Amino acid sequence: MRVFGILGYPLSHTRSPAMHQAALKATGIDGAYMKFEVREGDLVQGMQELRELGVEGFNVTLPFKEAIIPLLDGVDDTARAIGAVNTVVRVGSDYLGTNTDAVGLTMSLIEENVRLSGTTAIVIGAGGAARAATVGLSFGGAFEVKVAARRFAQARSLCRDTKIGLPIDLAYIGEHFQDCTLLVQATSATLHGSDEAQSFADALPLDMLPDHCAVVDLVYEPEWTTVRLAAAAMGLKTVGGLGMLLHQGAAAFERWTGETAPVEAMRAAITR
Ligand code: NDP
Repeated sequence: MRVFGILGYPLSHTRSPAMHQAALKATGIDGAYMKFEVREGDLVQGMQELRELGVEGFNVTLPFKEAIIPLLDGVDDTARAIGAVNTVVRVGSDYLGTNTDAVGLTMSLIEENVRLSGTTAIVIGAGGAARAATVGLSFGGAFEVKVAARRFAQARSLCRDTKIGLPIDLAYIGEHFQDCTLLVQATSATLHGSDEAQSFADALPLDMLPDHCAVVDLVYEPEWTTVRLAAAAMGLKTVGGLGMLLHQGAAAFERWTGETAPVEAMRAAITR
């Protein structure tokens, strides 16, 4: 049996096992997708165990997307540009890191008919998801990407490291809304259980966005976040994070197996 999986901690809420089990079943691959829940101090040993098991490929999630890099045998240009790995592929006896979050976002936007080419985008946040979004939008042909963070230094570091974008202070984001054609919410502020979800959305002057601006929230738990609800109430087109989850998973599956990902079976498995 072929073994795939996900490495992270905690993994109680991940939808990846359901998505990849559905993909294995639909493609008739005799395989399993397992949860490798490893505590933060145990990553070196955890990676060693994955090597000994001969795992063919695995996803990497919080808190290891950056910490895994020195434990791998190499990373590709996309992972290097983002500075994080979300997918590891075994090639011979080597484990190579890549990042499918950026292409996951761009594929989900294409699927939703959101134009990337020539867009003026603002990404809110400066964590791993914001880095992937910034790189994805740039690779996708965005005209300009601005990065807005509550800690300006974080936005500046993101732009410096990725060599993309203009850092701005989240407190003054409204000053940049007039020209914005794509707003990407990439913080964890709208995540289920966040105390700040409503105040965060209320503080964004979404009424200053042009009517043709699309608003994307990478958070998919809940699917309709406070920011999406507020944008939709203003008549703006909105996109949730499930499409990005789906397409990053599809891209990972194709890298591991060489098979075309059964996207609809995977989508059904993650849609609740
Ligand atoms: P990180 O923990 O790396 O980064 C979180 C970012 O959010 C930081 O920049 C943090 O700022 C910022 N932030 C949190 N709360 C607030 C707030 N109230 N106001 C302003 N900024 C805030 O997480 P990730 O970047 O990995 O993920 C972010 C979210 O994206 C996750 O919640 C996840 O649900 C979603 N995601 C979705 C994916 C998908 O496939 N759809 C893929 C990956 C992530 P600070 O540093 O100042 O705390």
